[in-house]
Amino acid sequence: MNWYKQTIEQTMSKMNTSSNGLSKVEREKRLAADGYNKIEEKQQVKPWQKFLKHYTDLLMIVLMVAAVLKFVTGDFVEGTIIFLVVVINGFVSYWQERKAEESLDGLKQMMGQEAVVVSEGTKSTISAEELVQGDIVALKAGDVVPADLRLLEVHDLLIEESILTGESEAAEKNTAVLTKEAPAGDQKNMAFSGTLVQAGSALGIVAATGDDTEIGKINHALQSVEQQTTPLVKKMHQLNKQIFRGILVLIVFLLFFTTFRHGMEWNLMFSAMIALIVAMIPEGLPAVLTMILSLGVKEMARENAIIKNMPSVETLGAMTVICSDKTGTLTENKMKVMDLATSETQMVMDIMNNCQELKLKDHQSAKELQGNPTELALLHYVEEADLKLKTVVGKIPFSSSYKFMATMHPEADGAMIFVKGAPEVLMKKSILTETEKTSWSNQASALAQKGQRVLGFAYKKVASQQELTHELLSELTFAGLAGIIDPPKQSAIQAVKESQEAGITVKMITGDHKETAKAIGEQIGLKHTAKVLEGVDIDAMSEEELAVQVQQVDVFARTTPEHKLRIVTALQNNGEIVGMTGDGVNDAPALKKADIGIAMGIKGSEVSKQAADMVLADDNFHTIAKAVKEGRRIFDNLKKTINFFLPTALAQGLIVVWALLANQPLPLTPVQILWVNMVTTITLSYALGFEKASEDTMKRPPRGTNEGILSGYSMFRIVYVSLIIMIPAYLLAMSFEGQALQQTILLQNIVLAQAVYMINCRELVNPALNKGLLQNKVLFASLGILLLLQMSVVFLPFAQQLIGTVGLSLGQQVVIAGNAFLLFLVVEVEKRITKHFSDKKEKKSVSQN
Ligand code: ATP
Repeated sequence: MNWYKQTIEQTMSKMNTSSNGLSKVEREKRLAADGYNKIEEKQQVKPWQKFLKHYTDLLMIVLMVAAVLKFVTGDFVEGTIIFLVVVINGFVSYWQERKAEESLDGLKQMMGQEAVVVSEGTKSTISAEELVQGDIVALKAGDVVPADLRLLEVHDLLIEESILTGESEAAEKNTAVLTKEAPAGDQKNMAFSGTLVQAGSALGIVAATGDDTEIGKINHALQSVEQQTTPLVKKMHQLNKQIFRGILVLIVFLLFFTTFRHGMEWNLMFSAMIALIVAMIPEGLPAVLTMILSLGVKEMARENAIIKNMPSVETLGAMTVICSDKTGTLTENKMKVMDLATSETQMVMDIMNNCQELKLKDHQSAKELQGNPTELALLHYVEEADLKLKTVVGKIPFSSSYKFMATMHPEADGAMIFVKGAPEVLMKKSILTETEKTSWSNQASALAQKGQRVLGFAYKKVASQQELTHELLSELTFAGLAGIIDPPKQSAIQAVKESQEAGITVKMITGDHKETAKAIGEQIGLKHTAKVLEGVDIDAMSEEELAVQVQQVDVFARTTPEHKLRIVTALQNNGEIVGMTGDGVNDAPALKKADIGIAMGIKGSEVSKQAADMVLADDNFHTIAKAVKEGRRIFDNLKKTINFFLPTALAQGLIVVWALLANQPLPLTPVQILWVNMVTTITLSYALGFEKASEDTMKRPPRGTNEGILSGYSMFRIVYVSLIIMIPAYLLAMSFEGQALQQTILLQNIVLAQAVYMINCRELVNPALNKGLLQNKVLFASLGILLLLQMSVVFLPFAQQLIGTVGLSLGQQVVIAGNAFLLFLVVEVEKRITKHFSDKKEKKSVSQN
């Protein structure tokens, strides 16, 4: 059906609906019949394909070739074990990937779109997926159109349809019926699913949903969690490749060396090379890091911070400035009219009752209504008065760019225009003497200084009903002021303090009045509130002047979204890493420009949510501080995991290299090395991801952004730890007779050393034995499982045969444990010394500044 060729009446009757919308029962019936309003995602990769993918990994192929060669040469036991390791590794990787995907899928669902629907004459917000054909839907600036709509009523509606038409200029919409065939881009009386409402407001009737929409026909899934990896993980992939190349070079060298110098048999050498590759490549590490990230992101979502863009997890820890909105983010957003300054009470109340978007019929209680909290507060205020709603024939919707709203209502002898908005804006449009102006300004200031949001009311009588344009809004009669309180959130006050302690500057950027902003800024504990910068001040500044000012000022008032963009840019030019909140349609550029764009889940427009890197499900500033803490924790845990993996890999590799160079029998067989690798990958590898945040997480300054994956200190740590794992273990093993015993001692030593070193790695620089020791249950559970598996390999006859181990005496076990404990002590002492010197250096540099 070409709905654009149907008149509104025809559309309504064909869809069996009215301007009051469908009844609840009818909506449910249609939903059951037609299905949900969602686009089926393109064919997904099948689980078995995903599973098999892990076996195409280069290292896996090398191992499989090794297993086959072992079979060919008749070494069935080793062949089978290598093969088993391959299979188990594949399973583990698949499981890790699935976990990671599950958490991201969960996030996708949390980002579901909403729609305002009129049903039984009342507006309510529902999930856009529940829309059915015939529903009446309200659109406002900032919305993403939730389904294909035939427009019924439009007010200055501009829609950006580039997703469908490629045209980035927004299209002006109307309701007039078309007589000829037209492509989507020319159907001016239609709004299409997935397009963006740039300005204005409208009502439309749902014409098509889900796959039947224009966008559905071209099968374009709308929301997705972007990029599944972060710079750190990418760097780790690169590092892995480098290690792989390095090992290949090493292998070529060792091949020549051992063949020509020692005349080693190829079969033995082959085993040794496999052992070397397996030992030294931290092959599981990138997958483990990804899993830690995705679990962290899931945890963040549980705390109401929904990450859309994975790299933001890392950026969060480096953030130096948070620019926040005021209303709802720092304040309660439970608005209440406290003061009224007017001599025309009846008129002001009439404006409150009619110049609004929420109430559609008389006697609707404000409690039942949803939407703009300022309007709710005003409707609440007039509720007792039992005023009648007037017919609306024209409307200019509110925009934070021009800061007012206007409506037109027919009267017997012409029409009445009602306007409400920022007092100084309305005063400019009103006929006022200088004394009246001063008097109103003073009254507005007095209210604002109490931290109240001040709204002005004005009206104008016109001789005839006509189109309501911005030009018509001059020579108004100023009717009065209302002061609305919106107290700061206690949780936000606490979070501002926490952020400041974490070295992050908090700035407030609001559309509200200077005095109101200043008062609220002081109440929530911002540092520099003496000077407030207004939008007009910013307009008058050059980039250089603004760059200086943004560092000194924490409160910005009467700003428009365009100012936010300039503020972010100025801060970034000063080298700051900026988090910026935004909710309106025009905030998208600033959100995109910011290092972390933060949208509001409840009051935020769909457009702002699409542009953001992170969405706050509860609109609360406190959540940003929690996300920063979580971001820092995740990043720390990634670093801890890398610091744990690399020395243990190097230690095992060094043992093999040493044996080959010295022409000694391999101190560990390939199977034993595979065993250590597998058992530690399965048990220990992600335990550090569950480590709780260190106590000083929010007491230290943000991380520098140019920090590499391996600092000089990490390199030092990797080398010395691998030596301390290897040398004492090797010497101890060699002090006993018999190859099997030597190998078992070495094996046991390496496993225990890894276990204690993991406890070392719980903290990067602080002592590992601290208050939080018992909090990481996963760590202790995995240590327990590791020890159990290791003990069974040492003591169970079946495993002994397979792995080539022998039982150990109690004495031997104690000495091995002592060895591991020594490693633990050395690392702890080294951390203490390093911290001492780095603290000293920091103090020195602080005192020099
Ligand atoms: P923030 O940017 O921190 O959320 P804000 O909510 O005060 O602050 P805007 O929503 O841009 O910013 O509002 C700016 C001003 O516009 C308000 O101070 C008020 O005077 C006026 N205003 C707000 N809401 C409405 C509305 N629904 N109708 C008319 N005027 C409004």
